[in-house]
Amino acid sequence: MIEVNEVSKTYGDLSALQNVSWTIEEGEWWGIIGPNGSGKSTLLQLISGVDKISSGELKIRGRHVSKYNRRELSQMVAVLQQDGLPAIHYPVRDIVEMGRFPFQDWLGREQNKNTTALVDDIMNRLHLTDLGDRPLDELSGGQRQRVALGKVMAQEPQILLLDEPTSFLDIYYQLQFMELVANWRQDSGITIVAVLHDLNLAAQFCDKLLVLREGEVVGVGTPDEILTEDNIRRVYEVDPAVVKHPVNGVPQILLSRQ
Ligand code: ADP
Ligand code: MG
Repeated sequence: MIEVNEVSKTYGDLSALQNVSWTIEEGEWWGIIGPNGSGKSTLLQLISGVDKISSGELKIRGRHVSKYNRRELSQMVAVLQQDGLPAIHYPVRDIVEMGRFPFQDWLGREQNKNTTALVDDIMNRLHLTDLGDRPLDELSGGQRQRVALGKVMAQEPQILLLDEPTSFLDIYYQLQFMELVANWRQDSGITIVAVLHDLNLAAQFCDKLLVLREGEVVGVGTPDEILTEDNIRRVYEVDPAVVKHPVNGVPQILLSRQ
């Protein structure tokens, strides 16, 4: 689905990514982890076509990302960031409908698609139906991030890129957000790449993890393989205890003072 081959990215003198190689199969959910400044957001921006690679090859579905036009890319790839939507005074339902922009002509029309039914379904799944007429700037951060998810769902992309989507949410909304994404993935088979700071959430939801450090790949594998005490000590320079989650057995990280 996505092939990253020896990709480097420089900004002037600064090297943000060096020789990154990585293959993402259709339907997988990957997490990208690593310290601040390690190139995680840069890598997502290269995949979404927002920014261009400096060298190497980056292909989606066998075609170079640079060969897709903007409209083709936005029909295929959706991006959601930590503060997914600005707090504008605009009704929730209209914002979800904006996800259809890449498919509409310049009069806002779309052929062969019952957009109303699609948006109704999304509003319902995300528990937004009762909030449909409310302006976005009157909602809580957790509700707003659900609206942002609704907008990208309306886009019906094949690839979803998430950049720290839960960083501003409390633990209830963090889990709710991740569960909603997991349900969507189960129904649609969408491919997901998520930059996550919370390693415990990453372990619960991602099939595989890519670890970046100072622009280089320093680990690729399942959460069990990657989230070991040695690896975390090496990458993050903290001394954690890793335990098995008592309910689902995935690795969970406990931090302690030195
Ligand atoms: P992360 O998301 O892992 O925290 P980033 O990908 O945002 O890291 O940044 C990686 C490095 O690239 C950092 O040193 C950052 O300052 C630099 N960088 C990112 N975007 C730009 C840009 N547009 N211009 C210049 N430097 C950038
Ligand atoms: Mg980042």
